[in-house]
Amino acid sequence: MKSLLLKCLSCGRYTLASKCPNCKGDTVTVHPARYSPDDKYARHKNPGAYQERT
Ligand SMILES: [Zn+2]
Repeated sequence: MKSLLLKCLSCGRYTLASKCPNCKGDTVTVHPARYSPDDKYARHKNPGAYQERT
């Protein structure tokens, strides 16, 4: 299985596309690969994923 679930940073829609089909916003992977949430590299690579979390 290679399906990577992505989430739109703008509207929060889940998709498999690299751009949101709903609002054309950037998407980020839902599952953090190998990095912990506190990993600096993960934050740099995927900053939006942490900004959205409330
Ligand atoms: Zn969107």
